[in-house]
This record gives sequence, structure tokens and C-alpha cells, in this order.
Amino acid sequence: MGFPAIRHGTQDDSMFAAYDSKLFIAGEWRTGTGERLPVENPATGEIIGHIAAASADEVDAAVSAARAAFRPWAKLAPKERSSALHRLGEVVAARADAMALIMTSEQGKPLNEARGEILKLAEACHFYAEEAERVHGEIVPGATTDHESMVIREPIGVVGAITPWNYPAELIGWKLCGALAAGCTIVIKPAELTPFTALAIAEACVEAKIPAGVVNVVTGKGSIVGQALVEHRDIDKIAFTGSSAVGLHIQRSTPVVRRMSLELGGNCPLVVAPSADLDAAVKGAARRAFRNMGQICIAVNRIYVARPHYEAFLAKLKTAVERLTIGNGLDKPDADLGAMASAEPLNKTREHLADALDKGARLVSGGSAPDGEAFSRGHFFRPTVLADCTHEMKVMTEETFGPLVGVAPFDTLDEAADLANDTPYGLASYVYARDVNEVRALSLRLDYGNVAVNNVDAGVMNAPYGGRKQSGVGYEHGREGMLEYMHFKHIRIRYDEAR
Ligand code: NAP
Ligand code: MG
Repeated sequence: MGFPAIRHGTQDDSMFAAYDSKLFIAGEWRTGTGERLPVENPATGEIIGHIAAASADEVDAAVSAARAAFRPWAKLAPKERSSALHRLGEVVAARADAMALIMTSEQGKPLNEARGEILKLAEACHFYAEEAERVHGEIVPGATTDHESMVIREPIGVVGAITPWNYPAELIGWKLCGALAAGCTIVIKPAELTPFTALAIAEACVEAKIPAGVVNVVTGKGSIVGQALVEHRDIDKIAFTGSSAVGLHIQRSTPVVRRMSLELGGNCPLVVAPSADLDAAVKGAARRAFRNMGQICIAVNRIYVARPHYEAFLAKLKTAVERLTIGNGLDKPDADLGAMASAEPLNKTREHLADALDKGARLVSGGSAPDGEAFSRGHFFRPTVLADCTHEMKVMTEETFGPLVGVAPFDTLDEAADLANDTPYGLASYVYARDVNEVRALSLRLDYGNVAVNNVDAGVMNAPYGGRKQSGVGYEHGREGMLEYMHFKHIRIRYDEAR
């Protein structure tokens, strides 16, 4: 299939024509036979293209292709898988502009941010290309000197990957790169809202000469096509990122015993301790509460501020938030914020806002959609800050997944830690503090898979990233993100002679 010519910064009708109703199976582009589903630009409401809902037979064909490709891929020397992933990283980086345009058109985030995400996908390819060559095991001495145990690692097999729409490239990339580095093959079911980014990744796999069947993409609705993957008995591992509710449903509906990683929702706290650098805390809060319109699993949902800093923090946060620019991400590539991806997270944001105001929260900033014709047809909302919030309010206890943050004061560090941990979620937490004892007390007490101290980047490529409690099981990123796709095998050997 020829890659469509993409004109930068323009809405070219033919931009998605090459992907129309396409599935990527066994290295080939097939026109799907199922129902055609529209894909919308959330900034304008325009239909930008269509996908085909994969049928049960098409899902089956994708899994069979991945099964057939598994042994040959797993048997390659690690160096060869490494080279393939390096090539993929190069192709993705070279196509960053075109792929960013696709992402912004279907997801709404500003073009520069989308481009940044594509480049991070390329970085993941290179990171896991290198990890692929570092798969090694252990030799463990036996109980007697004529025995020895070898512990080796082997790829799990065929992976079914199901991903959400908020980071349409990276959340596929971490699974694809970890799986391929380990020697697994993969069938990807991207979110219904953002399928074209996934098809563009498949296109890059072709150019990078990833062997046919190693990567497959099937599109369609999660409840049907995603569910078909979950129920498929010839898949060895499900790698899922999405909501806790769907994650739990997947865990309950899997028909066979198998490995599973679930990267689920969050409700992430930020604690501004008595010793915090207030300006740094404000900067971090404004970024991590609102970037990608708060549609991030590790978004700051709620902020607890040491009482002496409370009003000053709110005043500074108001100023910082009101400086954030909002725009149609295609027209304003460098806007801080674009459209939300769909009506669903926007409605939830409005609902959490109304609930908090009803229960006595104070509106500090935002609270409505931005004015103007440019915003009238898309899913836009102003970044919104609420003060005097309590745990009676949804904004403090549920994942909003929108541009809304609640703030409350605290008196002691113990109280701050208790409030921060008062949630069924355990993905990421944030602390601003300069006193080493405050840093230590909070980072050890917080019951989260990730604690970012004096920064708001809880996920970095070379360290494990994962949640606790209802935020999931398993890790992505880092060496751990590849080991998730591997079995251990213990080979115990008795030799004729003791050593
Ligand atoms: P979602 O509704 O759970 O959907 C995630 C994926 O699952 C989509 O591809 C969806 O398909 C599919 N799906 C839906 N029902 C399914 C079923 N019965 N069986 C199999 N697959 C099914 O989540 P979302 O609304 O797209 O994304 C937002 C959520 O993801 C938030 O809760 C966020 O915190 C979480 N998230 C977590 C992380 C992390 O690393 N922990 C990262 C990013 C996002 P459709 O799109 O077609 O419905
Ligand atoms: Mg959903």
C-alpha cells in the first residue's frame, strides 16, 4: 500500500483514504468485511475517515498469522530482532511529521505534542532494540556438585494488545517494542477513537521490514473486537491499557489461564509539603494536571497543600493555568492544550465539576468551555481549578480524565499521606518538598507504583512503570517492560562427574 501523501498543516481529504477500512494481517493490507465505523476529528466534529470492524474470522486470521510468525521470530538471534527494532525507530522518526498529523486529526492534542509522542515511540524502539541483546539468564549451583541449574528466558508467544486513545502511539509502542524484543509476536486492537495512528505504525513496520505476521492490527469496537481477542484461546498473553472497569472485566472474562498485564486508571495526588519550592510545585501542577487536557492516567487529579502555603499556592496556580493556551491542534501546533478526544471525558469533567460545586468547592479558575466560534464544534473546556475540596467530592475520589483538579489544605504530613492514599488506585503520586526528611517520609508512605519528587515525570523509558491496587498489574518501560513478555525456564542438569 502506498503511504498517502500528507500535506502539512492542511486537512487533506485523501489523507486517510489509504487506511480506509484496512486491517493489517500477516503483513498484508486487507479491506475489512465488517461494519464501517466513522472516525471523527474531535476539534471540529468532521468525519476524517472510516475503519472496518474486524469480524471474528478476521481476528482469527490475525491471531493465526501471529502464531505462524512466532517460532521463526523467536528463533532469530537477538541481534537480528534488535536491528529490526532499530530500523523501526528510524522509520518512525523519519515519519514523525506525517504520523503526528494523523494523531492530532483523530485525538485532538496539539501537533507539536503529537510529534513529541511519535519521537518517544521511536525512542522506545531504540531502547528495546538494545534490551533485546541483553536477555540473559543465570547459572545457579546445585545442592551437590554434580548438579547445576540454568535459568533461561523464553518469549511467552502470541500477545493480544488492547490500547486506549489518550496516547495512541506510545501505549502501543511500549507493548510492541517489549514484545518484539523478547521474541513475541503481537495482534493490536487500538482504541476505536484513534485507529489511524495504529495503522500508521503498521505501515512503518512494513518499511522497517519487520517480518510478516510479527505485527498485526485489527480495528473495531472494544466490546466486540477487543473482547474477541480476550476470548481467543490461542493468545498467550493479554497486554491491556485502559480503564479499571474494562481491565477487571477482561480479567473476569478470560477463558484460559495466561499471563496478563493491566495498566489501568489512576487518581493521582500531588502533595505540596511545608518545605516545598512553591513556584516549582505550581509549575509541575499546571503541567501534569492539564497536559493532554488531563486525559492521562498519571494526571494530577488532586492537590494537598501545607496550610501555610494554601492561599499563595492557589493564587499562583490560577495565574499559571490562565496562561495556558487552547486551540485546534492542527491550526495551532504549539498550543498548550487542544480538544478533548471525545464527548465522554468532557461530560465526565462537567459532572465532576458540578458535583464539587454542589458540595461547596470554590471555583478558582476555568469552569466552562472557551468562548469563540473556533471552539464551538469541538470538545473544548478551559482548565479548571477547584479549592476547598473534600473526599465527599468525585473530583477527589474518582478519575476525572479531564482538565479539572481539586485542591485542599493539610496540617500534618501524616494527614497528607493518609489523604493521598485514600483511594482504590495506586498508579502515580507527586511530592514537592526540599527537606530530606519530608521527601523520605512521603515517598515511603505513598502506596503507589511511581512517586515523582520535585518533578512530574513519573514515567521514564528506562525505569519500570506500573500501578498497584485497582491501577493494575505488571510493568511497562525499563528492562521489566520486556521481561513481562518472557517466561523463566529452569533447566536442571546432572553431570556424570562432580566438579
Ligand atoms: P477503556 O474504555 O477501558 O478502553 C481501552 C481499550 O479497551 C480500548 O481499545 C477499548 O476499545 C477496549 N475495550 C473496551 N471494552 C473492551 C472489552 N470488553 N474487551 C476488550 N477490550 C475492550 O479506556 P479508555 O477510555 O480508552 O482510556 C482511558 C482509561 O485508560 C483511563 O482510565 C486511563 O487512566 C487508562 N489509562 C491507563 C494507563 C496506564 O498506563 N495505567 C495509560 C493510559 C490510560 P474501544 O476504544 O473500541 O472502546
Ligand atoms: Mg472508554
